[in-house]
Amino acid sequence: MEKAPPHVVIFPFPLLGHINSMLRLADLLCLAGIHVTFLNTDHAHHRFLRSNPNLLAGRPGLLFRKISDGLQVDESRRPARFTDLFFSLRSVTKPLLRAMLAGSGGRPGSDDTVTCIVVDGLLTFAIDVADELGIPIFIFRTASPCSFWTFFCGPALAAGGEFPFEEDNMDRPIRGVPGMEAFLRRRDLPSFFRVNQLSDVHVQRILTATKDTTRASCLILNTFEDIDGPILSHIRAHCPTTYAIGPLHAHLQSRLTESNDSPPTDFTPSSISFLTEDRSCMTWLDSQPHKSVLYISFGSIAAATGDQLLEFWHGVVNSQTRFLWVMRPDVVDGMGQIPAELREATDERGRLVGWAPQVDVLAHTAVSGFLTHSGWNSTLESVSAGVPMICWPFFADQHINSRFVEEVWKVGLDMKDRCDRRTVEMMIRELMEGKREELVKSTARIADLAKRSVSQGGSSYMSFEKLLEDIRSINSGPHPDGGK
Ligand code: UDP
Repeated sequence: MEKAPPHVVIFPFPLLGHINSMLRLADLLCLAGIHVTFLNTDHAHHRFLRSNPNLLAGRPGLLFRKISDGLQVDESRRPARFTDLFFSLRSVTKPLLRAMLAGSGGRPGSDDTVTCIVVDGLLTFAIDVADELGIPIFIFRTASPCSFWTFFCGPALAAGGEFPFEEDNMDRPIRGVPGMEAFLRRRDLPSFFRVNQLSDVHVQRILTATKDTTRASCLILNTFEDIDGPILSHIRAHCPTTYAIGPLHAHLQSRLTESNDSPPTDFTPSSISFLTEDRSCMTWLDSQPHKSVLYISFGSIAAATGDQLLEFWHGVVNSQTRFLWVMRPDVVDGMGQIPAELREATDERGRLVGWAPQVDVLAHTAVSGFLTHSGWNSTLESVSAGVPMICWPFFADQHINSRFVEEVWKVGLDMKDRCDRRTVEMMIRELMEGKREELVKSTARIADLAKRSVSQGGSSYMSFEKLLEDIRSINSGPHPDGGK
């Protein structure tokens, strides 16, 4: 009897940026004929279904399942409560995951055995479960490789006395991250390093998860060799089997175009959200002059204070630029009165939306720049579209991403740790006028490299082929535990 296709269980951390990139991987695997069970926490699953009622349609081979995150339905899942979320995932979800994988792997009534698990790099407790059940496990670290590598070097930074530090001289160079000696400063380290105690629970959690990665069979990263080659070499010294298969949104698009002869019915590339997408901004963009609009978005989590938001708003308005701004309902912690001149200027040359189709917006010919919080997905999406950035990192890997954007890839300007209207205005003028030529040149070059990497024969394309080959060879070999 012919063997069933491989069956991969994918389990992301329940945040939009993580789910988005892991869903793109799921879609890529399904396109290659692999069965995928995509496991969301019940909270994330319900939020998605509310804003993406068609999420489940048109994805042959992909099955969505849910699992409890252990918190009460009405408990907050905001970053301030992440410690509780991590704790409950480990204590409540881990045994549920074990039971699910020991059964049908989340596909009730199916005889699909689980070939391997792809789990988020923050959920490394799943390694224990996989080891116990004898199922190969791949870690997908959805954040930037440069942040992953600094976490890897965290213990060495501590041993060398470079961390922890007081936040008095944030421009002091950091020398203990190989490959970054020439440009890394304290302020560029991922925000978890901004603590004055080595025992801080958040930094310890991320350092431990990073170290745990070496216990998994393989590592998957959303990047491509041309921008991250040197960092990938360092990472591969510790995680020899590292697949660099990004930018995933572009990779998926490229494979979909390639499979155009036989597209899966109703298949739409996945970018899903917790909020309903407002596509009316695309019509608004159609009516704007070529390369005239600054796109502004702080991703799905970042929230500014009311004062910060007003400083941004004044700076944007004073720059006289046209703008499209994603104002999520929760993007601001407490907002006072909005001055009439800001409202008037916004009506004149701006557009506010609750959630935008970001990949399409960045590809629109009217868009000329991106004021971003430097989330890793947003960074890759901007780079792929050839749109230069102004970076205002908020937390996590964003602080180091913005340093790479300015210093290494030279595709934008880093505005970290500053938020006053004069700086905002000055940065926008530099992006749109003063430094435009050089930024556009390097951004176009990197966009071209990104495109090549995901096209047939490109580095990410070939790395994904190798990933497929490895998954298929697990499926065709005897299962380590004799038949699960
Ligand atoms: N995004 C979107 N519409 C918006 C804002 C964001 O589709 O209005 C998507 C964006 O394309 C990206 C994701 O949300 O894929 C945000 O991920 P990122 O890693 O940039 O930031 P995070 O939300 O994790 O902080």
